[in-house]
Amino acid sequence: MKPEHFDTARLHAGYDPAAHLQSPLVPIYQTAAFGLGDTETAAAITAGTKADAYTYSRVGNPTVRAFEKRLAALDGGTDAVAVGSGMAAISYALLNVAEGGGRILAPTNIYGASLDEFRTLLPKFGIQFDFFDDINDLTTIKSLLRPETKAIYIESVANPSTEVADIAALAQIAHAAGIPLIVDNTFPTPYLCRPFEFGADIDVYSSTKGINGHGNVVSGVVIDHGQFDWNNGKFPQMTEPEFILGDEAQHKTASFYSKFGANAFINRIRMKYLRLLGAVMSPFDAYLALLGLETISERLSKEVQSATAIAQYLTTNPHVKHVYYSGIEKDNQLVKKYFPHGIGAILSFELAGDEEQVAKVLDNVHVFTYLPNVGDVRSLIVNPVKVTHREMPQAIRLKHQLNQQVLRLSIGLEDVRDLIADLDQAIRQAFVLPQE
Ligand SMILES: *Cc1c(COP(=O)(O)O)cnc(C)c1O
Repeated sequence: MKPEHFDTARLHAGYDPAAHLQSPLVPIYQTAAFGLGDTETAAAITAGTKADAYTYSRVGNPTVRAFEKRLAALDGGTDAVAVGSGMAAISYALLNVAEGGGRILAPTNIYGASLDEFRTLLPKFGIQFDFFDDINDLTTIKSLLRPETKAIYIESVANPSTEVADIAALAQIAHAAGIPLIVDNTFPTPYLCRPFEFGADIDVYSSTKGINGHGNVVSGVVIDHGQFDWNNGKFPQMTEPEFILGDEAQHKTASFYSKFGANAFINRIRMKYLRLLGAVMSPFDAYLALLGLETISERLSKEVQSATAIAQYLTTNPHVKHVYYSGIEKDNQLVKKYFPHGIGAILSFELAGDEEQVAKVLDNVHVFTYLPNVGDVRSLIVNPVKVTHREMPQAIRLKHQLNQQVLRLSIGLEDVRDLIADLDQAIRQAFVLPQE
């Protein structure tokens, strides 16, 4: 039986206790490899004709597989591949779609490491980027499409501005050009937004963040909607004969498309990128991520409530120049459409002070922890320009009002009154005059 609702699926989807000695939790298969049994079984396993068989944990592991299946179910996808970090998920997805000389459209106000990869590293692998500044300037985005464009890549909620993307409109533009829309949906998690419902084709996540929610594991996941037509002539890597899928002895050839159809993309990620580049998620990390995922709904709904209260408090603080939390913008139609239960636990604000005063806020918080992460049960604070977004050139940062005075918050599960009091006293101390 397939669990129907999110809250049931986050506890049960993708795992059958009966196949694991009735263990209610997914067991940790902490092993590098699996016995092949007898030679006949070994032949069936290596030929890929034996279902749910495992040989080597770089290629597949039962604990990791349960995490993949659970996330695919929660996100509304057909399949998922878990990897060792969010950056590995992004890298593999973009290489898989545009390898060998494709172009990708992407916004400039994205996670710092993503921007750095797109500007300085992937071009060395033959993948060029056409950047746009405004995620909702659809005319400009359309004008950037070229015959070699292989995908549109976006963040559903931008880091750290929390600007919201019009997923359905962008999916339409992508599909009219015969290319997929790839969405980094890390900030909302599948609990707050499922981009596939609005036409996205591939989702990527840093499950380091809200999916696990406990700040104890770095990991990522790529999820496939299983709807895109990879046979439209733009993606030869999906339709060319693939040695590992064929049978040399019988002179049979196969491609990812001929073998997996609409699931060509995700299977190619697993069999080419994960298997050959090797950024695997470990079984123990998958266990921790599964455990964290069990409480995602309760965590996110409380965190959204607290983030909203904190954003509202910050708007009343005379030392705060601007609050960036699109969740409190009353007439933001995109928030209403895509995020009826909130945009997530992350917000930022610009202090009406100088760099020294920003440092004082960071040095005087006691409940908030000063560290570069988001989506933890503990509340976190960071100065993006100096830490998480230092890879972003100033010219780009300033277009997005990301200056030295911006502080990013990730709201956890503490009592919101303590969080507000902590921010309030830290900001007050930053504005105490020297003689007082
Ligand atoms: C953290 C983050 C990433 C990178 O994920 P890692 O797990 O740190 O590799 C990518 N995108 C967004 C939006 C993030 O917040």
